[in-house]
Amino acid sequence: MFQRAHELVTVTKDPQYTGANRCFPCTVVNLIIAATIATLLGVFVPSLGLVFFAFAVATIWLRGYLIPGTPELTKQYFPEWLLRWFGKAPPKPTAADVDPGEYLQQHAFIVEDEAIDDLVINPIIKEDWWVRVADLSAEQSDKAALSQFSDLPASELTLGWEDDAYVARIDEERIGSWESRSAFVADMAAHRVFASQTTDWDRLFVAQRAEIVGAFRLFIEQCPTCEGTVTMDQDVVESCCFRYDVIAGTCQGCGDRLFELRVDLEQEQEQEQPIDV
Ligand SMILES: [Zn+2]
Repeated sequence: MFQRAHELVTVTKDPQYTGANRCFPCTVVNLIIAATIATLLGVFVPSLGLVFFAFAVATIWLRGYLIPGTPELTKQYFPEWLLRWFGKAPPKPTAADVDPGEYLQQHAFIVEDEAIDDLVINPIIKEDWWVRVADLSAEQSDKAALSQFSDLPASELTLGWEDDAYVARIDEERIGSWESRSAFVADMAAHRVFASQTTDWDRLFVAQRAEIVGAFRLFIEQCPTCEGTVTMDQDVVESCCFRYDVIAGTCQGCGDRLFELRVDLEQEQEQEQPIDV
């Protein structure tokens, strides 16, 4: 009997908004709505208020929400500070003292290609980068590579998939995440190139190095995993309670995402400026 009930509940639960996908802000909003309605009903018929509240809590537990469309509402109307308080805010771009774009050009890692009137990876650097990609592939130790990059002991690092991100942690603390393993390999290879080509790389903070290799990744035209062509497209990133536009670089060979840049397309269109990556 219990087994059957458990099966029934399992099949009835909506996995999109329950379990690991449960949206905490949506659940809180729905519980407040349920409590308000139950109180109003309870004023007139106390038992009805209680029955309604029990029904509402069960519905929220099973479906993730009581009022249809609440996940959509929180996406649109919850301010970022409130979502952040719930731990649900979209990632904020971080600033560093070193401008990554300037750094890349100052060291001629990125150069102007007059033929196409655009910035590209310096061909010598590109060649070196591919050598480092091959080294990383042969070594087969992402942890050792990350340890070199972060100056943290490999034994204390963990690397693994969390939702759609390749995430690095030390103990429980999240220290970095990448859109794919290809993106991770691209950064670790770039780190080795820059460390060998400059004298100031070791003096930079790890966060600054991360920003610089991340900026370099925007110029990579071929996937380090399968050598497929990386193309740029507009996309929308959606979670349970936020949604934003991105310019995404995706490998046409293996489908790995090399980067995602958050953009405000409406604002870009108003300003009629090209998107500066
Ligand atoms: Zn690929």
